[in-house]
Amino acid sequence: MKKKSWNRPVQIEIEIGPCKYCGKNMVNTESFVAFADKTKGHYKCMKEDDLKRSKTTNFSDSNLF
Ligand SMILES: [Zn+2]
Repeated sequence: MKKKSWNRPVQIEIEIGPCKYCGKNMVNTESFVAFADKTKGHYKCMKEDDLKRSKTTNFSDSNLF
């Protein structure tokens, strides 16, 4: 039998601070985004926030009449 040596990437979880949207502490193994003002947030939360914002914009746009 041959021995297989696995070169597994070691993922170390590092806390990177709270999400600016939901306030939960994030770890570097999650999908997150960093903003220019040095705040960070979950990618998922950013998407949700984007949706909310575009909805609000659409609403006021369609409110012209
Ligand atoms: Zn979040």
